[in-house]
Amino acid sequence: MKILIINPFESAKKKLDIAAELINLNPNTLEYLKKVERSLIVSIPIVMDDGFLKIFEGYRVHHSTLRGPAKGGLRYSPDVTLDEIKALAFLMTFKTSLLNLPLGGSKGGVCVDTKELSKKELERLTRRYTAEIISMIGPDIDIPAPDMYTDSTTMAWIMDTYSMQKGRTIPSVVTGKPIEIGGSVGRLEAPGTGMGYLLKHICQKLNFDLKKMKIVIQGFGKVGSVVAKQLCEISCNVIAVSEKQGGIYSPDGLDINEIIKWKQQGNSLKDYNGKNISTITNDELLSLKCDVLIPAAVENQIYSKNADNIDCKIILEGANSPTTSQADAILNEKGVIIVPDILANSGGVCVSYFEYIQDIHSYFWGLDRVNREMKNIIIKTFEDVYNLSKKMNTSLRIAAFAIGAKRLAKAHELRGLFP
Ligand code: GLU
Repeated sequence: MKILIINPFESAKKKLDIAAELINLNPNTLEYLKKVERSLIVSIPIVMDDGFLKIFEGYRVHHSTLRGPAKGGLRYSPDVTLDEIKALAFLMTFKTSLLNLPLGGSKGGVCVDTKELSKKELERLTRRYTAEIISMIGPDIDIPAPDMYTDSTTMAWIMDTYSMQKGRTIPSVVTGKPIEIGGSVGRLEAPGTGMGYLLKHICQKLNFDLKKMKIVIQGFGKVGSVVAKQLCEISCNVIAVSEKQGGIYSPDGLDINEIIKWKQQGNSLKDYNGKNISTITNDELLSLKCDVLIPAAVENQIYSKNADNIDCKIILEGANSPTTSQADAILNEKGVIIVPDILANSGGVCVSYFEYIQDIHSYFWGLDRVNREMKNIIIKTFEDVYNLSKKMNTSLRIAAFAIGAKRLAKAHELRGLFP
């Protein structure tokens, strides 16, 4: 998988510039939104299992708390940079504002390859990271959640470390926890579930027959595998899936349940065999002719050099920032409908918000309620974005940023500036 070196924060801000011009955003608000409120860089020393000390670097960034406590994931990746975390925190602000959730935007990261650490080492790393950023998190300050290479176990360790420091159990400090200690049903699957709802809705609206559409998915993790499963449950035809090392393709469609089982046994996709199935690189996968392309891996996968080869009707962005600005322009020109990340994968933060409410009320919902309420919010948001994009003759991405920016501008105007 190609990782592009571009300044992610600068490129994220370009989208806001375009939306700001379209809606005549107050220049003071624009200036305000182009900076993060605060960022913290921490060193995380841990004793490895072999007795030697290793120091990892970690970050936590609050981009905005204009509309409520900051909200955003925590990722563990060897390539993480402060600018990447700033860009992702910025995206979270627009995601929560677009959905009209009473939350802001944040993100955290630790430069670490989780595959090189034992479970005990990962636990020590997570607990020490939590202690280092403790003044920046809390139910009414900033609420972390899982992101790449972190999961419900990571959240349980953060919740426990935070609670031990405060002297009482505080589940609402993180979302995406195990259900047994205050997590919400449906949260793990939420980004993929939401994407399934959106795709069905879009196809109905635009008169596409979803069951006849060929679907290609890049990334087979928490987002990609769930959306693949969702789509297969309604008899859609997923023709290719991939992970970091490559993927598999079959013109006849793939048996996703079998592939999920294969992965659960610890195997790689590229070793999966079956009738009429061939292995494929990530580059080849992105240029397959299909109807729906779902980039659900990492950032900047669709960029200026491969955008021309993309051959699909709809791109549903499961990952955050999978498309660079230049690629976005090329694809818009080609008439590809791009459902932007801040809308497409927003089922995750939406159900995180439900988890937070459930923790605060100590009253837990059933899966039907979680999915129904999430569906209502994201479908209504899609309609708002779609209508604005038609009215302003712009892309869904710019319309989504414009709606988020308008709400942020209103909050800025009403609150004024301290002191
Ligand atoms: N990491 C997820 C995202 O990028 C979820 C954030 C959250 O639930 O707070 O949207």
